Amino acid sequence: MGSFQVKIVGDYCNLRCTYCRNRDFDQNTKTIMTLETLERFFVFLNSLPQEKIRVSWHGGEPLLAGKDFFNQIIRLEKKYSKKEWLNSVQTNATLIDHEWAEFFSTNKFSVGVSVDGSERTHNGARLNAIKQGTYSKVIQGVKILRCHNIYPGIICTVTKKTFKYADEMLHGLLDAGFKGIAFNAFYNTASEGKRDVYGLTDEEWLCFLKKIFETWLTLNNPEIKIRELDGALAWVKSKAANYCMYKGTCYQWFVIDYEGKIYPCERLGKAVTFGSINSLKTFDELINQSVFVEWKKSIERMPQKCQDCKLKMLCHNGCVSHRQANNEGAPLYSYCESRLKFYDYINDRINGRR
Ligand code: SF4
Ligand code: SF4
Repeated sequence: MGSFQVKIVGDYCNLRCTYCRNRDFDQNTKTIMTLETLERFFVFLNSLPQEKIRVSWHGGEPLLAGKDFFNQIIRLEKKYSKKEWLNSVQTNATLIDHEWAEFFSTNKFSVGVSVDGSERTHNGARLNAIKQGTYSKVIQGVKILRCHNIYPGIICTVTKKTFKYADEMLHGLLDAGFKGIAFNAFYNTASEGKRDVYGLTDEEWLCFLKKIFETWLTLNNPEIKIRELDGALAWVKSKAANYCMYKGTCYQWFVIDYEGKIYPCERLGKAVTFGSINSLKTFDELINQSVFVEWKKSIERMPQKCQDCKLKMLCHNGCVSHRQANNEGAPLYSYCESRLKFYDYINDRINGRR
């Protein structure tokens, strides 16, 4: 059990995306995991019973840890070679050069890159430290990766500023040669009545999803894989989509920060801590602690609306980080209505009723 996101440089990043909540953190002090903590991480994961262990090297921008750090990762994976280490890295791609690409190719890392749609929509949001758009730098990094036969999956963040440009965003990504795309709705954290300039409402997210679906249909190209559509199309066949936001498997995701502290998935922030790899001896010790047991129970609680819902087993009350308290006994997924309506919409379109 368990997937691990390791924030090797904490929230430290070389970009200043307009919507990024990490901008509030100190971005002048470089934080980086020590080699002692890195080795402790491998010792800790070695206590897991499973043979294959997925590790996502994250940040901030993880490449800021430097090539020597990544070489140490490989050294330790060879040292703890009873496990099969499945590595991925999530990067903004602006620092990729041939040496990085060669490293990822040789060591079989899968690479995810953040691109926010077309050049125009991307450059409106993903800025460098001197407020310049980063699209050309990102695409340059992606081209270098492709020279080394690495074809990264894309995470595209959708905000209140960009959801209206769904077509443009999708076409921009396809024109740049991307075929595996995941759209992230930028979550609205503002309390009721207050304005959040980036957070998407339920209706805005639904509007975006419908447009993407219609464009995808007209393209008629099964090679184009869009996570959100794959999820909804799986539901229509009563199959569970293979992604944590649909599966209720949040408790299997852990973040290790650069100091070795352990948290749930990065999206949940630091309100709950499970301790530290420096003090916990084994993974079993972690999951048997009352703080973990209680937290797991709390995220598994379903409001009445979910208990009565036709999508209950295909949705599991959505992403835990997108739930809001209500009067139904447990927090409800904020994009619940768009999920229900999008399911009906796709179902009708597939069955020719719309
Ligand atoms: S669609 Fe809404 S009601 Fe149904 S399980 Fe998901 S969050 Fe709950
Ligand atoms: S918080 Fe959301 S994204 Fe993170 S593991 Fe849970 S369901 Fe997945």
